[in-house]
Order: sequence, then structure tokens, then C-alpha cells
Amino acid sequence: MTCEFICVGTELLLGNILNTNAKYLSEKCAELGISVFYQTVVGDNPERLEETVHLALSRSDCIIFSGGLGPTTDDLTKETVAKAFGLKLVEDARAKEELLARMNHYGRKITKNNFKQALIPEGQKALYNHHGTAPGILIEKDGKTAILLPGPPGELVPMFEEYCIPYFESRSNQKIVSVMVKLIGIGESEAAARIEDLILNSTNPTVAPYAKTTQVHLRVTAMAENEEAGRALIKPVLEQIQAKLGEYIYSMDENDDIEDVVVRDLEEKHLYISCAESFTGGMVASRLINVPGASNVLKESLVTYCDEAKMNRLFVDPETIKKHSAVSFECAKEMAEGVIRATGCDVGVATTGYAGPDGEEAGHIFFAVSFKDKTVVKEMNLAFDRNLVREAAVIRVLALVHQILKET
Ligand code: AMP
Ligand code: MG
Repeated sequence: MTCEFICVGTELLLGNILNTNAKYLSEKCAELGISVFYQTVVGDNPERLEETVHLALSRSDCIIFSGGLGPTTDDLTKETVAKAFGLKLVEDARAKEELLARMNHYGRKITKNNFKQALIPEGQKALYNHHGTAPGILIEKDGKTAILLPGPPGELVPMFEEYCIPYFESRSNQKIVSVMVKLIGIGESEAAARIEDLILNSTNPTVAPYAKTTQVHLRVTAMAENEEAGRALIKPVLEQIQAKLGEYIYSMDENDDIEDVVVRDLEEKHLYISCAESFTGGMVASRLINVPGASNVLKESLVTYCDEAKMNRLFVDPETIKKHSAVSFECAKEMAEGVIRATGCDVGVATTGYAGPDGEEAGHIFFAVSFKDKTVVKEMNLAFDRNLVREAAVIRVLALVHQILKET
């Protein structure tokens, strides 16, 4: 099946917002084995949209639309697409009911415009929206498919997962099974080089690397007649990835972030963690507190930014700072050990470094993890801007905690 996207919205053409929906849809279609040959962005203009729809219908089996389903008069995707398919709009009872319920719930006044959102091209399928008022629409006519999704990514993404993935799967009689392998501590090119044969030579499953700003994800995707067969295809590939990149892998679960994994490690071992953070300013603790249940593993955490704080709160020896400075292997080690003494926690974490952007030492950082009479200190030089240096350090230190707890 060939597919193309039409993203509707003048704000996209003006550069006010980034077209993240196109990125998301492209990524998903690639996973589903659907070929995407065109993406178009068109403003909220009925003539130009209509022209774009006719062109798309002339060359693709399926068109996915994003945006322009709202209640205002500039939202015209539905009207234009219905016209192009020669379909008239009729009210969908459930869409209207859900619209009223949602508006009531939020105490919003209902205007005549709102009811426009309950209209569906006759005989076609409404895709009910659990995150907003505009339902999506699935049109199947004359061998062509059009899927209309609302613009806000918080609505488009869950609707794609709920309706479009099963729809495409049902059309192909194939089930897509995929696993996301998540790595920290290795760059994309290095990770890709180590599993180059897998990336180049695998067709089912496929292996595709995605570089995130501070980590690398590998998506392994198989197509099979059912879930079980898909898993069986994926298993040996995951084993090969594990063998080649195991030290960097922190999860094979789509929903995990590094902090989820660390909180789980700590919970399983009934351990408490505290951080002594300098240039990360509480970001490590904040990441951990993102996870529900963090209170089972973290009681308190310190931001010790100046030298005095490091000496007074963490018992760092003034001589250490004098001799090596606060940004040093020695200071990081004493901070991680000191925070255990200060808080009585089991795992002590420390960060100290030059976040930059100015100065020769910008991006020069140390972080340490202390656990059971052993302290591991790492030194890194990161060529990022200030906030990325901080973000990268947070990820790295959490990965180090995970690695140490995994080994013990
Ligand atoms: P609309 O459905 O056209 O009313 O869009 C509502 C909002 O969704 C816009 O104001 C944007 O914030 C967001 N949005 C629309 N299209 C996109 C897109 N292609 N990528 C990301 N966000 C979008
Ligand atoms: Mg719009």
C-alpha cells in the first residue's frame, strides 16, 4: 500500500509550529511496512487543499490528514475531503453525545460551531477521540482510503495507535511486532557500526537506529501472521544485539525511561538513594521523582553548588578542593561518599563539572556513584551546550547506578 500525508494548517507554513505529526506518522508507517512517497503541508485554504487532495488521490492508495478538524471556520479539512470524495456530511449521534459530555465536563459553553465537529461523511466511520472534541474519520471509497486525524499531537498519536495501527494490520493480514532497545553511553554511529550486519542484512525483522539527543534507541520490527510468530522472529535478533551492545542496554521496554529502571532496581533491592548535585542542580533527583513510587527509594537529595556547601554538607575535605578543585575525580568521589554519610542512604550519587558555555573547561564533568564501600567515578568531556551537558550527565549517572545495581 502506498500512503501520503497532508498536514493542514497555516501555522505550519508560517513556521509557528514544527510538523511533528509528519515525523511521527512517517516513523509509524515505516514500522508498519507502508511506503510513504509524499508529504504535503497546506494552509487553511479550501481551494489549495482541494487541489492537494485530488493530486494525492491520483497517486496514492491512502491519504492521512492531520489538522483542520477543529470547530472554527478555518478548520475545513473534513468539508474539503468529503467534497473530493463526493460525500455529504451527516450528524453522528455518538460523536454529538461525546462532544456534549466533554463540553459539560469542562464547563465550556457550547456554540453552534461546536456541532460542526459531530458531522461525519455519510456512511463512513467516526474515530472517537478520547483526548479532545474532534473525532477523526475513516473514509473508504472507490478503492481509496482517507484517514482524518486532529492536529494536536496529544490527540493524533493516541488515535493513530488506537485506530490506524489495527486498521493497517487488518488490511495486510500481518501483525507488526516491535521491540525498542534503549541504550545509554554509546553514540549512534558506534552502535550502528557494531551491529552493521544486522541493520543492513535484516529484512524481517528490521533493525533501525534512532538517535535521541542523549541516548540511542534501536527498533526491531517483525511482520508475522501473529504476535507469537513475530516475537519468535525478533528473539534471536535481540540476542545478537544483547551480545554486541549489552553493556549499554538499560531496557527493552518501549515505556521505560532510565529513571523508571533505576527506581525499579532500587525498589527490588530495598535501597534508598540520595544525590549530591552540583551543576545538575537537582535534575537527577527530579528525574527520579518523575516516577510514581519514587518515595520508596528517595527520602532527600542535596544541591551543593558552591565549595562551602560541598564541604559543609558533604564533608568534602577542604584540602581536596584546594589541591584538585571542586571539579575533580577526588571531589566527585568524596561527594558521593559524603551524601551517604549525610543522609544515611544506601546509594550516593554525585555530579560536579563545568556546564559551560564559557571557559576552556566547558563540558568537563565528573560523576560518581557510591554503593557498599565502593565508589565508581567517571570523567567526561561533552561537546554540548550548557543544558545538554547537564541532561547528558543526568542520563549517564543514572545509567551508572543501573549498571552497578545490576552487577550486585
Ligand atoms: P487543528 O486541528 O488544525 O486545529 O490544529 C490544532 C493544533 O494542533 C495546532 O494549533 C497545533 O498546535 C497542533 N498541530 C496541528 N498540526 C500539527 C502538526 N502537523 N504537527 C504538530 N502539531 C500540529
Ligand atoms: Mg488548524
